[in-house]
Amino acid sequence: MPQSIQAKTILNKTRRRDPWFLDDYTLNPYSGCSFNCLYCYIRGSKYGEHMEDKLAVKENAAELLDRQLALRARKNQYGIIVLSSATDPYLQVEKDRMLTRSLLEVILKHRFPVHVITKSDLVLRDLDLLRAIEAVAQLPADLQDKLQRKVFITFSFSTIDDQVGKQFEPGATPPQQRLQALRQVLDAGFHSGVSLMPLLPYITDTADNLEKMFATFRELGVRYLFPASLTLFGNGPADSRSLVQRAVERHYPQLADKYRAFFAGNTAMPAYYQEAFRNKMKELLNRYQLESSLIPSRQL
Ligand code: SF4
Repeated sequence: MPQSIQAKTILNKTRRRDPWFLDDYTLNPYSGCSFNCLYCYIRGSKYGEHMEDKLAVKENAAELLDRQLALRARKNQYGIIVLSSATDPYLQVEKDRMLTRSLLEVILKHRFPVHVITKSDLVLRDLDLLRAIEAVAQLPADLQDKLQRKVFITFSFSTIDDQVGKQFEPGATPPQQRLQALRQVLDAGFHSGVSLMPLLPYITDTADNLEKMFATFRELGVRYLFPASLTLFGNGPADSRSLVQRAVERHYPQLADKYRAFFAGNTAMPAYYQEAFRNKMKELLNRYQLESSLIPSRQL
């Protein structure tokens, strides 16, 4: 059972907008994340090895958000709200608690645009509210001539293979089921795409895998795709570097030395890999005619 907590604040104003996510604000209904992805950047001793154990529900989130958004709207500080940046808004617990749903109701009331980022198919439940937000939301002034839409739904993948998903994202909706949800969201007319963050070196970033993934996303008609390579942090038992290394040793022993060497004193892959990665992504995005931005017609 997740704990219940009272949050002091719920809407965070970002210092600057991320060029991919266009986040003016971030909103996290839960503390921790039961999807438990091994590579997750929020990992560390605060959340423990199984983040599920430390999961907490911010009980007063809707009430706080109502107050904070009323104030922002009064000052005409409209901006895109990213839901979420440090948890998934559609965790298993959301099915009964419906906290994210209540936050979307508040967002609709105050007419803010929203960018949902998830690894779950539960977002399908809330398409009614998201459609209503699309109809009434107010974009920030500087994005009004750049964006045509007010709701963005991004599905996050490190793989589209269920087996690999089980190894590295044990609590999330299996990737194939996620793909079906993505199809439904696109069929329903939403501006929806994919975040490939992170692709796993020599596991999910192989030439064959990339072709398969890009062809799948192209066939589905995704509107955009954000690719990024792996970053890992920390050496404690609950840190992403330790957890990914352990999973590689277990499932891909032939890659264990490589991973150890890549991340021995670094958090990111070596420069030569990153350059090759960028070039490959650029080539694939162009060949499959996919955007790499929520703002149309801009490539990597
Ligand atoms: S879904 Fe996102 S926040 Fe949750 S564990 Fe995975 S990467 Fe972390």
